[in-house]
This record gives sequence, C-alpha cells and structure tokens, in this order.
Amino acid sequence: AREKYLNSERLNLISELSASVSHEIRNPLTVTSGFLQLLNQSVTITQEEKKYIEYSLQELKRAETIVSDFLAFAKPQSENMIFSNLEAEMEYTKNIIIPYANMHQVEVEYSFNNSLYIHYDKNQLQQCLINLYKNGIEAMKENGGMLFINVYEANKSIIIKIRDTGIGMDKEEISRLGRPYYSTKTEGTGLGMLMVYSTVHKLKGTIEVESEKRKGTVFTIFLPV
Ligand code: ADP
Ligand code: MG
Repeated sequence: AREKYLNSERLNLISELSASVSHEIRNPLTVTSGFLQLLNQSVTITQEEKKYIEYSLQELKRAETIVSDFLAFAKPQSENMIFSNLEAEMEYTKNIIIPYANMHQVEVEYSFNNSLYIHYDKNQLQQCLINLYKNGIEAMKENGGMLFINVYEANKSIIIKIRDTGIGMDKEEISRLGRPYYSTKTEGTGLGMLMVYSTVHKLKGTIEVESEKRKGTVFTIFLPV
C-alpha cells in the first residue's frame, strides 16, 4: 500500500512539473526549427553546412517528440473533460493507428460493445490509447502480427483490452513499465507507459499486464463508473 501511495504522489509531482516545463520549451523549439529551415534554403551555404543544419533539425524534432509526450500527459484535467462512453475516442484512435499498423504488417481487430458513461479528458484518453497501440505494434516490428482492441462492460466497469502477438516481456521487464525514461528502443522516449499509468490513475482505474516472451502482451484497463 505504501508503494502505491508513493507512486501516485510521484505521478502528481511529475505531471505538474512537466506541464510548465513543456509549455516553456515548446516555443523556442518551434522558433529555432523555423529559422534553421530558412537557413537551409539559402543558396550560399556549403554541403557540409547543410548537413549540420539537417542534424540540428533532426535533434530538434526528437526534442519536440519528448516534449509532446510530456505535454499530452501533463494537460490539465479540466481542459477537455467530457461525459461519454469512449466510443468516439476508441473509433478515432483506431483509425489513426491503422496506417502505422499496416506499415508494420500488423492487422488490427477491433470491437466496441458497451454503453457506460464516465467523465474523462478526451485528449488524454486518446494519447493513452495511442501509446498502448504504438507499443503493441512496435513489439511486432520484426514479423508483423495482430493487434486486438476490445471494449466491453462488466461489473459496472468499462474494460479495455489491448492484445498484441509481439515479443512480450518477462517479469522484470513488466516491473520496469512506467518508470520514467525506461525504454528498450533506440528511438524510444520511455514516457509512453508513464502517461498511460497516469491517465488510468486519474480515472481511478486499474491496469493489468499479462505477457509472455515471444508470445505477446495483454493490457487490460478497468475503468469504474
Ligand atoms: P517507449 O515506447 O518510448 O520505449 P514506453 O514507456 O511506451 O516507452 O514503453 C517502455 C518499454 O516497455 C518499451 O521500450 C518496451 O520495452 C516495453 N513495452 C511496452 N509495451 C510493450 C508491449 N506491448 N510489448 C513488449 N514490450 C513493451
Ligand atoms: Mg511507447
């Protein structure tokens, strides 16, 4: 119980801190990118200088990704609060992820079967779902596979099940999920699961992980009404 308490304290702190930091950093990043792009179009610069500009733009883009992850997860809860049954968000995020899935030979199977209404932040929920889908697809990068997304209700809860047939995780890897910057990917930020846990926590829900190496992973989110 003590560990749980510390965990949610830590999440609140990180969430508040990152909100202000992300806002402050995003503007200078955008401005710098803009000027570098202008510079890149100059006819007087050498090939070598062009290369440096392109590296800089790449790095700025990476910084922007990190900030976006933070920003989405730190968004104040009152901003986009709605009372709904998730259907619009489920449909929207499924459609967004399909091109990314196709790119990696992943087929998406989706079913929505519930009618429960809860209060939630629209953007935050979308970001949370996309983070889980992306992780699932990225776990199948090698050989493709299936991503199952199922929503239904049981015992006055909304249940969201997200299953992939990817590389899976062992016990130790599962226990690292949600730790800031924990990533096994070269291009990973290690912030996706932190955002997922934070969102579920804010909705007073729980999340279960079942995983087996080389078999796949199931994330089950329970959201109380
Ligand atoms: P990132 O995706 O940027 O690496 P995340 O916080 O989203 O950061 O995920 C952290 C790590 O958890 C991933 O790098 C990966 O090792 C592991 N992980 C998350 N979801 C899955 C999954 N569905 N299958 C296998 N590993 C996963
Ligand atoms: Mg991720």
